[in-house]
Amino acid sequence: MRNLVTHYINGKWTTPAGKETTEVINPATEEIIGRVSLGTREDLDQAVVAARDAYTFFSKTAKEDRVRLLEKIAEEYSKRKDDLIEVITEELGAPITLTEQVHYEMGYNHFKMAAEELKHFNFVEKREKSTVVKEPIGVSGLITPWNFPTNQTSTKIASAIAAGSTVVLKPSELTPYSAVILTEIFEAAGVPEGVFNLVNGTGEVVGDGISSHPGIDFVSFTGSAAVGQKVMENGAKTIKNVALELGGKSPLVVLADADINEAAKTAVNHIIKNSGQVCSAATRVLIPYSIKEEFEQAVIDVLPEFPIGNPLEKDTTAGPLVAQKQWDRVQRYIANGIEEGATLLAGGPGKPEGLSTGFYVRPTVFTDVRNNMTIAQEEIFGPVMSIITYETIDQAISIANDTIYGLSGYVVGEDPTILAELASGIRAGQVTVNNGEKDFSAPFGGFKQSGIGREWGSFGIEEYLQPKAIMGL
Ligand code: NAD
Repeated sequence: MRNLVTHYINGKWTTPAGKETTEVINPATEEIIGRVSLGTREDLDQAVVAARDAYTFFSKTAKEDRVRLLEKIAEEYSKRKDDLIEVITEELGAPITLTEQVHYEMGYNHFKMAAEELKHFNFVEKREKSTVVKEPIGVSGLITPWNFPTNQTSTKIASAIAAGSTVVLKPSELTPYSAVILTEIFEAAGVPEGVFNLVNGTGEVVGDGISSHPGIDFVSFTGSAAVGQKVMENGAKTIKNVALELGGKSPLVVLADADINEAAKTAVNHIIKNSGQVCSAATRVLIPYSIKEEFEQAVIDVLPEFPIGNPLEKDTTAGPLVAQKQWDRVQRYIANGIEEGATLLAGGPGKPEGLSTGFYVRPTVFTDVRNNMTIAQEEIFGPVMSIITYETIDQAISIANDTIYGLSGYVVGEDPTILAELASGIRAGQVTVNNGEKDFSAPFGGFKQSGIGREWGSFGIEEYLQPKAIMGL
């Protein structure tokens, strides 16, 4: 059993103002692994005061000092590699190999990249008649989900520190233990008191409190579009700057000249990775009608290469979903796909054989999907693929863009002209061609209802700054 997690305010773990706590569950075993305090407005107020006080000195620190601080954080982060892998696997149910290669790595890269980008970042621009200075935005409230607990917290905190802003973080109550290790990392790296504050609790109390707090200047939220709307509405009351990283329904467009087996592998990997709980996952697979049967067979053939099961085993590619509530939600979508007339190619309702304990879902592939079906329009957040056919490239682009979302897009194929046409035609914040490698210096964020603002690298740092124009100097 892990310790009770309280709040971390002004450099200390606090005694919470309220007594309420909630259980943290291991989704693979359904066992309780610990408890977390549910913060109150009083806890939040204390954290905001600490962050405001710290802002007065931290906003004035030299950029070289903040580069060193970020490098030290990255160093301390890497020392806690084993603990981070263990805790993410335990509270999220993510397979240990994925935790090491993706969850752990992404957090590390954000701190390293923020340090690198900060070295070259220009805070002062001299113009002919004025000087433009980029000043830290103030106290930033960070609200994060459970699906990539170290990635989302790290990118926000790294950018805020690089900018000279101070923060109050409310992580998801489902995955609070990775934030505890991050806090210990910041302590070990010498992050000054009050620069980083952690208030645990529910979205309805602490999250809502952050988005409406008059002492918070900027809110960076990652989560569902429904909650993002509430955050924006709340922020409007005090004219807060708001950055939103929301959901997606991203397309993977397979070209007629693509290697079909490789394309099928890519498609399956998208729904398997993190059990499909990925905002940028390609969940709509668009294939030319001419290769439909061949592609469907390739998907069926490739599925057994992705074992589902115990997250602690090195070969496991997908663990359970994070919680019963998510399992119920995904089951409703699978039932919905069947009702709406899509053809079930693989998987289906219920749990995979031999996995009755844990929130496991059968990787499910629908074909003959029309883009106006619910399963093609709404974010499912589970291992569910929809195969949709197209006849022409124009039609592929039109289907790809026929969604309220615009987070990511993916294309696989050979013809460079068509690849470029799709990269330009897909309305999304990020397009990946032929499984191109992630670039942590490139911006991450959504078009349309996938969000407002950008994270990662210098684009992320900009979010935590505001320009001041000085005339006459
Ligand atoms: P969620 O919106 O339910 O919760 C996200 C966070 O908001 C949690 O910390 C939650 O406690 C808090 N919250 C809940 N109600 C709130 C309220 N009224 N006011 C303020 N905060 C509140 O999302 P989730 O289920 O934790 O995560 C899944 C969602 O996150 C998916 O829709 C996914 O697409 C999205 N997501 C987006 C990105 C991205 O970068 N675009 C990344 C990961 C996840």
